[in-house]
Amino acid sequence: MREEAVARVVTPVADTIESAEEVTLRPRRLSDFVGQPELKEHLGIVLEAARRRGQPADHVLLAGPPGLGKTSMAGIIANEMDASLRITSGPALVRAGDLAAILTNLAEGDVLFVDEIHRLGRAVEEILYPAMEDFQLDIVLGKGPSARTIRLDLPRFTLVGATTRTGLITGPLRDRFGFTARLDYYSAADLDSIVTRSAGILGVEVAPAGSAEIARRSRGTPRIANRLLKRVRDFAEVRGDGTVSLATARAGLAVFGVDELGLDKVDRSILAAVCSRFGGGPVGLSTLAVSVGEQPETVEEVYEPFLLQLGLLMRTPKGRVATPAAWAHLDLPVPAGVAGRGGAAGLFDDPPGS
Ligand code: ADP
Repeated sequence: MREEAVARVVTPVADTIESAEEVTLRPRRLSDFVGQPELKEHLGIVLEAARRRGQPADHVLLAGPPGLGKTSMAGIIANEMDASLRITSGPALVRAGDLAAILTNLAEGDVLFVDEIHRLGRAVEEILYPAMEDFQLDIVLGKGPSARTIRLDLPRFTLVGATTRTGLITGPLRDRFGFTARLDYYSAADLDSIVTRSAGILGVEVAPAGSAEIARRSRGTPRIANRLLKRVRDFAEVRGDGTVSLATARAGLAVFGVDELGLDKVDRSILAAVCSRFGGGPVGLSTLAVSVGEQPETVEEVYEPFLLQLGLLMRTPKGRVATPAAWAHLDLPVPAGVAGRGGAAGLFDDPPGS
């Protein structure tokens, strides 16, 4: 997955170098956070109420696909509460002691961000329950009949958990969050504002039509919008006068293999395999993956969601099936037998992570 992230321009997952760069583009205040009006309004009320009571905010669970602003929102919560942010992730907390060490080092009011919280192990999760509920930490000393449990008081903190799907979180953990929100894919207009904002921070001159073009091909995802902006900026500097006009955006995106819908080479080869090699499907996931030289999990988790989202592909009990829109996108004649196939869902209509 990591190698994948580096190689692809349109992956929503950040690579290490990019994560460092992202810091400069991250919105810091609720008012800088573009889009997601409902989330901003609700969270604004929750934070304001906590501030007035002089208490840390309730624990917040953010769900949604990668690159939509969950980490940014955790930072915003900390800034708005005038608190420090501590960042960790489910897979990094292997033993109960790993989490205990972090919890005992928190200061009153701190915001603890746990990314991929659905990947916490059971033992670690159980430590979290009393910590979230009563700000207490149970430590077991010794083993067997002589084992004793001691309780430590923790500072009151706010846990912000992020997950790609709420369905992956256990019931007891989910119940301990006072506020749960889902981040949706962004509209082209919001992405346009994000591209314009990022261009301002990076000092790139972008024509309105240029930023709109980048926004349109960004798969509803701010992280991809920012990445495409940076690649088009590179192209504009090397092959043009440094300004991102509509023509430069189009030419730059073509050079990096990002097409009209924001699909890259692998996305298109998956569609081409289903449409041409397998007669439109149904074709099983593993057969499809072998035919495009990828791992089945990569096809399922990285490529397929967006193709499903666009209504180009459908999942059926018998396998993956192409919709007429897939042939149309590849400029191939739609075979007579598939003309009535459904799946032409609107762009980003499906609930993310469902
Ligand atoms: P996630 O944690 O969901 O993977 P991030 O918070 O790391 O997503 O967001 C990735 C990048 O996208 C951030 O660095 C930020 O620049 C940009 N971004 C995300 N959401 C927004 C937003 N609502 N407004 C402006 N920029 C955003």
